[in-house]
Amino acid sequence: MTETNESNRSGKITQIYDGSGLIQRCPKCDRWIIDNFCIVHSDVEGIWDLRIKARFDNGKVRCTLIFKKDATEKSVGITLEEANKLGEAATLERIKEALVGKKIEVVGVKLSGGNFLVKDIRKV
Ligand SMILES: [Zn+2]
Repeated sequence: MTETNESNRSGKITQIYDGSGLIQRCPKCDRWIIDNFCIVHSDVEGIWDLRIKARFDNGKVRCTLIFKKDATEKSVGITLEEANKLGEAATLERIKEALVGKKIEVVGVKLSGGNFLVKDIRKV
């Protein structure tokens, strides 16, 4: 018997949270860092990454959607390389344009604490 927690739901993304878009991670602990400084490892050479944290609402269910790099690239139509060229502010704008207010169906895995890890989205 295979059990997956995969589910899908339709609704709208109503907000993109801070810390979304082009971000830096600590190469040692993978934490989100700013300006090559990790609270645990001090000065490090940050690794660029893409992610989105977004508020999802369909009138019944509200949750936070988490997009990792692959899901971000796919749903926004941008690669990490392109985002690096655009810079942080322009990348965030692209994400907002692509997602906020659009009716979508999300496929992914429900996490604890009301979060939902997105694997794929479909615009409906
Ligand atoms: Zn660290």
